[in-house]
Amino acid sequence: MPPPVFRFAPSPNGYLHLGHAYSALLNFDLAHQTGGSFLLRIEDIDATRCKPEFEAAIYEDLAWLGITWEEPVRRQSRHLSNYRDAVEKLSARGLVYPSFESRAEIAKEIERLVTQREADGPWPRDPDGAPFYPGAAKLLSSGQRAAFLESGAPYALRLDMAAACAETGDLVWVERGQGPDGETGTVVARPQAWGDVILARKETPTSYHLSVVIDDALQGVTDVVRGQDLFWSTSVHRLLQQLLGLPAPIYRHHRLMLDAAGQKLSKSTDATGLRELRAEGATPADIRRLVGLP
Ligand code: GLU
Repeated sequence: MPPPVFRFAPSPNGYLHLGHAYSALLNFDLAHQTGGSFLLRIEDIDATRCKPEFEAAIYEDLAWLGITWEEPVRRQSRHLSNYRDAVEKLSARGLVYPSFESRAEIAKEIERLVTQREADGPWPRDPDGAPFYPGAAKLLSSGQRAAFLESGAPYALRLDMAAACAETGDLVWVERGQGPDGETGTVVARPQAWGDVILARKETPTSYHLSVVIDDALQGVTDVVRGQDLFWSTSVHRLLQQLLGLPAPIYRHHRLMLDAAGQKLSKSTDATGLRELRAEGATPADIRRLVGLP
């Protein structure tokens, strides 16, 4: 068996906190214990939120923790053509359609649908809690769609989930960690729970789901070790891997670091920021202890 490949893939849209330290150290330790390699990937497709100072801080904080990674670091913003190619492949198979609405228009459409079918309960939400896309753009006639495209209106590209699932059939993944309800071992993917996900956003030719799947494959990642908050995203990742003929890594979703109030750490809480802890005199060994690693 070739040696395993692990990766830590932060988005430079804030400073790293203890949750990131746990994930990065866990990946790094596993790579060492198994004779594998450790990659760092910068997930910077969101040009409005990602900042060079956050990226620089990632390198600095990880190096301070004693983590080393292989060069060159893959920065997603430099590889947009890889993602564009993948969307084109799916598009050519009729699995993708343009969606022109703004967020506000989608919210309004949902409101309209909910009012119309009052008795049917609340509008469905995806595993992240976002309301399901109601699918209006899928119902456009080819003439209407052509007119929108011709007008130059910006659009996102969505996966036709029903068509995609019909193509792949049921899918599973190997889980070495745990889902939020203790799921482990062979887990049945539920991509339908996400609805018609966006593959390419209006402002960038990709999305989190698409780029993570393409990059893990291009970088030969064999073991995806990441926070439990991404557990159900794996359903979409398995689907895209299958559609694009990419190998499926093994997954290990790990516990999340919580704050005193039991909430997931966010990049804005200073108390657990690695920079703040360092400024207060914490050592890398203290950080390992704080996150519960030997
Ligand atoms: N970039 C994602 C994040 O910062 C992680 C992606 C992944 O590990 O799959 O939450």
